This record gives sequence, structure tokens and C-alpha cells, in this order.
Amino acid sequence: MNILVINCGSSSLKYQLIDSASEKLLAKGLAERIGIEGSVLTHSAEGKEKLVRQEPMKDHSVAVKMVIEALTDKEYGVINSLSEIGAVGHRVVHGGEKFDRAVKIDDSVIADIEALSSLAPLHNPANLIGIRACAENMPGVPQVAVFDTAFHQTMPKKAYMYGLPYEYYEKYRLRRYGFHGTSHDYVSKRAAEILGKDRKDLKIIVCHLGNGASISAVDHGRCVDTSMGLTPLEGLIMGTRSGDMDPAIFSFICEKEGLTPEQMNQVLNKKSGVLGLSGGLSSDFRDLCDAADNGNELAQMTLDTYAYHVAKYIGGYAMAMQGVDVIAFTAGIGENSYGVRSRVCPYLAWLGAEVEDEKLKIRGEEMIVSKPGSRLTVMIVPTNEELMIARQTMEVLG
Ligand code: ADP
Repeated sequence: MNILVINCGSSSLKYQLIDSASEKLLAKGLAERIGIEGSVLTHSAEGKEKLVRQEPMKDHSVAVKMVIEALTDKEYGVINSLSEIGAVGHRVVHGGEKFDRAVKIDDSVIADIEALSSLAPLHNPANLIGIRACAENMPGVPQVAVFDTAFHQTMPKKAYMYGLPYEYYEKYRLRRYGFHGTSHDYVSKRAAEILGKDRKDLKIIVCHLGNGASISAVDHGRCVDTSMGLTPLEGLIMGTRSGDMDPAIFSFICEKEGLTPEQMNQVLNKKSGVLGLSGGLSSDFRDLCDAADNGNELAQMTLDTYAYHVAKYIGGYAMAMQGVDVIAFTAGIGENSYGVRSRVCPYLAWLGAEVEDEKLKIRGEEMIVSKPGSRLTVMIVPTNEELMIARQTMEVLG
């Protein structure tokens, strides 16, 4: 069965068409600037020329129509008609405490996702727009919601409660949820497969280091802790997000700089992280690593600070699980950046990791970078959230 995987943002829609039997990627693309001037659809399929359509897309429904047209196009497409799409799998960011696994979408699920929008105001409404646009243009095709938070729902209470008045948890379900769950799930499973083992027999720490970054502790197949919190702002230092900090900083800066809470939120989400720490140099690790290699001290300090935070989380999670067998790096930085991996790995030596420096330089491939016989296995496992969404969609539909 062909599964259309959709990741819908407020003005964008990413998609992949995956054949669930062979797990082959048939086509993928991106509709950008939906509802704003300069809309464009980029579509590509293996062995075919890339299609770029610069046409107005007034809303997501038009975008979905154009995606279907591209997929069924005689020249650029990969299927003959809509009937060859068996199901749609949607990435939905926040499933709250309600969803600990993927579900088939119906009216009550839509109402639940809507109700959870207060926890993810930037994401859930956009995900719903995608769900509605697909329902409109693909009537009768089953749709499944795959939640970013679901994999983390196995965390024990001691890992997800904050040291705040308990009534906030009771009133608002204010707690740690964690994100990137589909990636943490995929990578921990794949890491075990590569090692020829069952995930249920391993203690794995997954470092998902992309623009957004999070770490999780996967103990015998179940997530027991993760670094992102109520929102994706907590945890590691990220591209432009601050990650952990003293909460008193919020009001301190508001007062000193005359910022409103909303403006301060913008600072913490868009102007902080490695971008802010490097004095505005870049949020891209390629630029930071180049600058650091050329002797830029701010860039060096930024990368050292970033790596130190990653290492501290790894240490904490090794303690939480009372041991660790595997550390897996994934996402844009985890899969590619020698500058970051070579700064994190020395911290792992006390846990028994002996790493081959040459292997740390290789980019974007599944690889065991620790030496044979190393007490701790260190690996690179490229993530594949879309494939995981397709798999879970199939599972739900049975
Ligand atoms: P997200 O999905 O969260 O937007 P990605 O997982 O795609 O992010 O990661 C994007 C980041 O990966 C870029 O900002 C860049 O810093 C980093 N990155 C990508 N390729 C490389 C590379 N070759 N070397 C170092 N960093 C890289």
C-alpha cells in the first residue's frame, strides 16, 4: 500500500509517498509559502526530473490538490490516480497525555488535537489544517495521526514532573512531554537492529541533534526520560533556542531590556541558542565549525558549550538507567558534524567508549564509530521520521 506522509506547518507542507511493502520512497516534495506571496511546490521522484511549480496557493487545500496533481502527473508522477494512495499519515506535534500511540483520525481525534492546541499553539493548529485539507481532497482515504510526544509517554512521573505547585499539573497538565518521539523511536530501534540485538535488551541514549535538538534515554525499548519539556524550548542548546536556563532570567531580561513576555519568548526561541551564543555568527553548525577551525574564539566557545551540555545530559541519563550500552547520534548535526561529535565523544571515555576518530569524520551513514571491543557502543544512525510515520500508519490500519 502507498502511504502519503504529511508534515504540515503553518505555511508549508512537506510530503513523502512511501510504498509500505518495500518501504521504498516513491516521491517527495515541499509546498512552501502557502497563503503568502511567492508560493512554490517542489516535487521529486527517483529517476524523474524535478518539478517546480511557482503558482499561488491560497490555502493548504490548494497545496494538497497540487501535491496530488504532481504525484499523478504523467511526466513527473509515480502513480496513475488517487486510488493508489491507501492512507495518509500525519505528523502531529502534541498528543498530550491523551495519545501514547498513533491513532486513526476521526471527529473525536480532531477535537482532541484541537483541545491540545494550547500546549502547542504554533504546531497543532497547523497540523489540523493539513488533516482537514487532506480529508477534503481525498475523501474516503483513511488518515492516521502520529504524535511527536507519544513515544515519551512511557516516562515515569518522577521524570516528567516539574518542581512547581502541583495544582498547575492538575489544572493545565503542565509537565514534561518531550518531542521528536518518532525519531527517538526509529533511531533506538534501528541502532539495535544494526547491532543484531533486540531493543528490549539494551539501554540506549539517542542524541537527536538538528536545528531543534533533544536527547532521550531508552531503557529496554521504553523511553524513561527526554530533554525537551512542556514545549520544545527546554533541554539542549539548539540552533536558535536557549534550552535550559535559570527561569529567573526571563523576568530579569524583560525588565532590563523593556521586553514584553511575548518579545522575550521570541528572544528565547529565535535569537538564542548557538546563534545568540556565537554573537549572531550563525545558527548553522557548518558555519560555526568553519569559524572555529579558523580560530574564531566565540565559535569555539559556542561549540564547546554545546558539546558540554550534550555530555551532561548523557551522563544524567546513564545514571537514570543505571548504565548505558549504546549512544546513537542522529539528525542534521548528529549525522554530519565532526566538529560536534569530536567534542562530545571525549567526555564518553569514562563510560568506556573508545572511538575511532577517522570514523567520526564520515557523514550521513549508518556507522558504528566506537572500536570493536569498546565497552560502550557509539553509533551514527540517520533518522527517518517519515518511514516511521508510514510504518505506524500501517500498524494502526492493521
Ligand atoms: P531540523 O529538521 O530540526 O530543521 P536538521 O535535522 O535538518 O534540522 O538539522 C539541520 C542542521 O544540521 C543545520 O542547521 C546544520 O547546522 C546541521 N548540518 C547539516 N549538515 C551539516 C554538515 N555537513 N556539517 C555540520 N552540520 C550540518
